[in-house]
Amino acid sequence: MKIYVQGLEDERFLRPLQLISDLFFEESDVSFTSNQEEDLQITFTLTVNEQISAHIALKARDHDKVYKEELSKPNLVGLSEKEQFKQVKNVVLRVFLSVLQEYTNIVQKWGVLTGIRPTKLLHMKLQAGKTKEEAHQELKEQYLITDDKIQLMQDIVDRQLAAVPDLHELSGEVSIYIGIPFCPTKCAYCTFPAYAINGRQGSVNSFLGGLHYEMREIGKWLKENNIKITTVYYGGGTPTSITAEEMDMLYEEMYESFPDVKNIREITVEAGRPDTITADKLKVLQKWNIDRISVNPQSYTQETLKAIGRHHTVEETIEKFHLSREMNMNNINMDLIIGLPNEGVTEFSHTLKESQKLLPESLTVHTLSFKRASEMTQNKRKYKVADRYEISQMMDMATEWTKENGYKPYYLYRQKNILGNLENVGYAFPGQESIYNIMIMEEKQTIIGLGCGASSKFVHPKTGVITRFANPKDPKSYNDGFKHYTEEKIKILTDLFNV
Ligand code: SF4
Repeated sequence: MKIYVQGLEDERFLRPLQLISDLFFEESDVSFTSNQEEDLQITFTLTVNEQISAHIALKARDHDKVYKEELSKPNLVGLSEKEQFKQVKNVVLRVFLSVLQEYTNIVQKWGVLTGIRPTKLLHMKLQAGKTKEEAHQELKEQYLITDDKIQLMQDIVDRQLAAVPDLHELSGEVSIYIGIPFCPTKCAYCTFPAYAINGRQGSVNSFLGGLHYEMREIGKWLKENNIKITTVYYGGGTPTSITAEEMDMLYEEMYESFPDVKNIREITVEAGRPDTITADKLKVLQKWNIDRISVNPQSYTQETLKAIGRHHTVEETIEKFHLSREMNMNNINMDLIIGLPNEGVTEFSHTLKESQKLLPESLTVHTLSFKRASEMTQNKRKYKVADRYEISQMMDMATEWTKENGYKPYYLYRQKNILGNLENVGYAFPGQESIYNIMIMEEKQTIIGLGCGASSKFVHPKTGVITRFANPKDPKSYNDGFKHYTEEKIKILTDLFNV
C-alpha cells in the first residue's frame, strides 16, 4: 500500500505516520514525495496558533469518495520546542488514525498508542492525583483507546496494587534477572539468546563460571550497601537445560552470595521447555525452596510444535506438569501463544480445553509477533498465520475463558509487529501473580541482569529516569568479558544509589 502524504513538511512526522499505517496494512509505505502511483493520497491542513488544528482528506486511487476528518485542541503555552512538537504530532496522528479507521472499517483498540507499556501510563496519571474517571477520559481523548482496553488497564492496575501494595515504594530495592542462554533446540519465532545445548558442555562450563562470578560480586555489593532484593527470575534460554548438579550449585551460590535470600518475595525459574524437566531437577528446586516455575505448552497441537521447532510432545507437557505438581511446585505458570502457524479458532479452542484440565496458577497469553531476527520472520512465506479477525476472535476467547475459570489479568505488554495489533496478557488466580512480571512491566525499580543476554534496567530511585546496560548475547563474548561487565554494572549502581 503506497501512501502519499502532502501538507506536512517536518520529516519527524514520517516515522510515526508509518507506524500508524502499519497497523492497518500488511506492507505500507508512507512518503512525502509523490511518484504518481500511490494507492492513497492524504492531504493535511495543519494550523498552529492558539489552537492546534488538523484537517485531513483521504482519497483512494480506485474510489471517488473522499474521507475527511478534523480535530483541534488548545495549544498550551510555555512548552519547550520538543513538547510543542509532541502536542502537534498527537493531533496529526489522531486525525490520521481516524481517517484510516473510517476508510478501512478497522477499529484500532489501542488508538495511536504504539508504546509497549500502556498500564504504566495509567499508573502515572493516578499517581499524579487524577481520579480514575479523569485518567480514563484522558486516555480516551489523548490516544483514542477504546473503553474495553481502558477497563482492562484499570483491572490490571488494581490487581497489581493488590499483589504489591508498596509497588510505588520499591525503588530502593532491586530485582535480579539471571539469563541462561541454552535450550534443547531453537524455536522458530525465538529471538532470545538461546543456543542449542548439545555438544556445548565446554561452553556451558565457562559460562557458568562467569555467572557465578557475577552473582558473587553483585551480591557482595548489595550486602555492603544494604540493598534488599525483591524478586529473582531465572530466564534465558531455558534455565533447566543445564544439569541438576549445575542448577544445585547455582542456587547454592545464590543463597551464599545474595543478601537475605529467605526474605526475597519471589524466586522464579523458567522451566519453559517440558523436555528439560526431570524429577532430579525438580528435587533441586524443592531443596532450595523454589516453587514458582513456568512449564510452557505454547500449543496443544502436535503439528504446531513440530512446525515451530519445539522438539517435545504435547503429552510430555502434560506429564511434566503433573510431575511438577507431585513435587510440590505450587505456583506454575504456563505460556500460550495465539496465532501460531496454521492455528485458528479450532486449535486454540483445543488449547483452552486442555488448559482447563490443568488450571495452572497463572497463564500468560501471548499474541505471536514477527520479530525481525527470528527464523519465522526471515522465512515468512513458509508460515501461514490467521488473519486479524480470527486473531481478535481468539483473544476474545482467551478473555472469556480466563474469566470463567477465575483468572484475573495482572500485567500486559505490547510489541511491535504483533498480530492484529493486540497485546500479551498475564492472568493469574488472585494472590498468585508474578511480582517479577509486575516489576519489569511497571519499571518501578532497578532490575540487575546477570548472565548471557541479560539486560539491566537501572531506574533512578528518586527521579525514575531509566538507563540500560546489556550483557553480551553470545556465550563466547560473555566468557571473554564477564569481569568487565560486572565492574561496569557496579559503577552504575554506585552512582545510582549514591553510595
Ligand atoms: S524455549 Fe524459549 S528461549 Fe528457548 S528457543 Fe524456544 S522460545 Fe527461545
